[in-house]
Amino acid sequence: MALETPKNVRVRFAPSPTGIMHLGNVRTALLNYLFAQKYNGTYILRIEDTDRERDADPGAKQILKHLAWLGIRHNEGPYFQSQRTQIYQEKLEMLRQKNCVYRCFCTQEELEKKRERQVALKKPPRYDRTCMQLSQEEIQRKLDAHTPFIWRFRLDHDENVRFNDLAHGALSFDLANFSDTPLTRQDGSVTFIFANAVDDMLMEISHVLRGDDHLTNTVTQIALYHALGYPIPIFWHLPILCNVDGKKLSKRDFGFSLNDLQDAGFLPQAIVNYLAIIGGSSTEEILPLSQLINTIHERPASTSHIKYDVEKLRWVNHRWVEKISSEELIDACKPWLMQAYDLSKIAPDILVALIELVRSDLVTLKDVIPATQFYFQRPTGVTLGANIAAITVPALNLIEQPTMFTEAIKKSAKQAKIPLSNVLPAIRNALTGSPTGPHVIGIIEVLGSQEARLRLAKAIG
Ligand code: GLU
Repeated sequence: MALETPKNVRVRFAPSPTGIMHLGNVRTALLNYLFAQKYNGTYILRIEDTDRERDADPGAKQILKHLAWLGIRHNEGPYFQSQRTQIYQEKLEMLRQKNCVYRCFCTQEELEKKRERQVALKKPPRYDRTCMQLSQEEIQRKLDAHTPFIWRFRLDHDENVRFNDLAHGALSFDLANFSDTPLTRQDGSVTFIFANAVDDMLMEISHVLRGDDHLTNTVTQIALYHALGYPIPIFWHLPILCNVDGKKLSKRDFGFSLNDLQDAGFLPQAIVNYLAIIGGSSTEEILPLSQLINTIHERPASTSHIKYDVEKLRWVNHRWVEKISSEELIDACKPWLMQAYDLSKIAPDILVALIELVRSDLVTLKDVIPATQFYFQRPTGVTLGANIAAITVPALNLIEQPTMFTEAIKKSAKQAKIPLSNVLPAIRNALTGSPTGPHVIGIIEVLGSQEARLRLAKAIG
């Protein structure tokens, strides 16, 4: 279902600060950001931190850092729900006046028993409304006894909620199958469902782009919009990310969190690029953030899941490593190199040459450590076979001109009828400790002729 160019687009990314930024969340942030860009709208950041017990990232510092690293910048916010308690209380009061809410004194154990009973009877496990039937006196008695309670939103069981979702198309749900949703917790704080909907109303969110796992919440939230008299936004429930086996991506899957990818040396450009094209069919695949708006298309999803394939992400990363400037690559590689080597031992221009030499071998930045090891650590125990040693010895005089050195080697190899495919890997092995890797000329240039001669001489024996 294509959108007619929408006006006054206001979207939001509304993460809960659970301490982990998982890739599904990153994708939601990205698509909201791109959607706002596409329609000249406003992209809002809202931190949903009403659940004090689960607030693992106070002030959402991690989230802010992650989004900045990815280049996903908000136009408005961040708003913190923990600072908006008064607003939710006012809306709760309005619902009380409209008689849309009631106190529920049921304990967790009671609720669990009711649920089990309903499941056993094969009924939808919805709250049985025990507390809706309480008389004023019973309520007062419980309040006087300081019995903890929550506020529940009374759904109209005769109502049928209908809405159009940009992924699913026209949807319709009977509220009779839904529970009267808790709007508050026993400590008085408000629940996600409530605060989230109230904020979307007050922040005039025009389009709600969020994970498909929120679809049933949407039904209750639309009922809240109706009860509070606000127009409902357009919803776009985004497919859930699955691993290659088709299971919902979980902590056990590598690449579940942004931290996993940062720690493995992925570039932010590659991550946003991959998450924008995943599940789509872009002809042009490698694009910077500024051009990714062309990859988003509002259309019915063929499935509510999309496959998150780390191998494809690695491919995209490799392409980005090839694409970025030398300065960017060096800046990105330095922290990795510093973990492994003493960089005071290498002149800045040599460091540039060294990284450029191995650039095409880097899939992630972490690969720069093994790829450059040869520079920092001399190979040990490598010997050139007698035939190859024999053609290398005379060529050593030319080592200061690496091209001439390799030309001489090639010429002698031809004369001696030794295949080049044997000779060059052997020379490379003597220089670096590995028969495969960058081209020999580049290796000699980076090592310097003196060091290269020394290594070859050692292998000649
Ligand atoms: N705080 C919710 C979450 O992190 C937000 C859902 C939404 O975008 O409405 O899942």
